[in-house]
Amino acid sequence: MTQYVWGYLPEYEKERDDILDAVDTVFRSGKLVLGPSVKAFEEEYAEYHGLAHCVGVDNGTNAIVLGLRALGVGRGDEVITVSNTAAPTVLAIDAVGATPVFVDIDPDTYLMRVDQVESVITERTKALLPVHLYGQCVDMAPLEAIAAKHGLPILEDCAQSHGARHHGRMAGTMGKAAAFSFYPTKVLGAYGDGGAVITDDAETDAKLRRLRYYGMEKVYYVVETPGYNSRLDEVQAEILRRKLTRLDGYLARRRVIAARYEEAFAGTELITPRLAPGNDHVYYVYVVRHPKRDAIIEALKEHDVSLNISYPWPVHTQSGFAHLGYQKGSLPVTEEVADQIFSLPMYASLSDLEQERVVGLVQDILKKV
Ligand SMILES: *Cc1c(COP(=O)(O)O)cnc(C)c1O
Repeated sequence: MTQYVWGYLPEYEKERDDILDAVDTVFRSGKLVLGPSVKAFEEEYAEYHGLAHCVGVDNGTNAIVLGLRALGVGRGDEVITVSNTAAPTVLAIDAVGATPVFVDIDPDTYLMRVDQVESVITERTKALLPVHLYGQCVDMAPLEAIAAKHGLPILEDCAQSHGARHHGRMAGTMGKAAAFSFYPTKVLGAYGDGGAVITDDAETDAKLRRLRYYGMEKVYYVVETPGYNSRLDEVQAEILRRKLTRLDGYLARRRVIAARYEEAFAGTELITPRLAPGNDHVYYVYVVRHPKRDAIIEALKEHDVSLNISYPWPVHTQSGFAHLGYQKGSLPVTEEVADQIFSLPMYASLSDLEQERVVGLVQDILKKV
């Protein structure tokens, strides 16, 4: 079975000398934790976004956890987000003791229905957590207006949107802070786990630095606010520095692959990604939609091709979140879309040949389903 999930090996073949040099650079530096590579990566990643601060952390989930804590979210608070996301978005809200509150998604972009946000704000609402899912941004202007009106901070979940733009603004620069994951499959991926929080606010930056370092600041061994051990690894930071210089190249390649799919499925019943106004998509995943999704997936399996679904089960329907009290039917668009979407192979190192094979198979299957 050809599992078309991103595997790092083709990329590693191309970038091996640089990756191994990054590892050696760290091992020879004499500093394995919070050393020069983390510091340099933080500066470079902040600068890439035109912001003042970046704090490297151990993964994307904890980037959201620390981001929420730095914004003052804790026990008993509510955070508004979506159910059509990677479960870690919601797990992070749970981890700080807060309650996730979901709004539905737009049937065209599969992103947060911003016009539903105001109706679920209560006196316990403490933050808004839009997810720039699949690689394009949530409609931010109306969300920012709601945030300003109600005095709520926005934390952007940018785990899938490195380098994406929205009316010219970069994903991660539109909220009070933004959380990134560098899990290997992501648009900017490490060779292991990693994450970061970016912000333009010095006070938020200082809180994040304490939170990732046990809650300590000036004097080692003295905890000021109980925190975590949530540091970005020095080796991963040095690898990310090297890969950051190639990020725009990865994005360009993803857009070429997306354009090829768009052309191949024009005029078929397969719905290709729709861009919301002002969005430059980075195609972390290439999500398509078809009412006979399951039949298509089954037919592909007969040709030994296995495709992913992001995500087959909305978070509010998962047993681990039953306590939130959502019923089936609570979020009708989210639930309908989850039954119809699937992802075509998409990663910068995907070859033309591999893409052509999948395109040909799907085109044939579409004529028969
Ligand atoms: C990957 C992802 C996360 C979690 O990141 P990890 O590094 O795997 O912890 C959070 N939110 C979204 C939307 C993601 O895609």
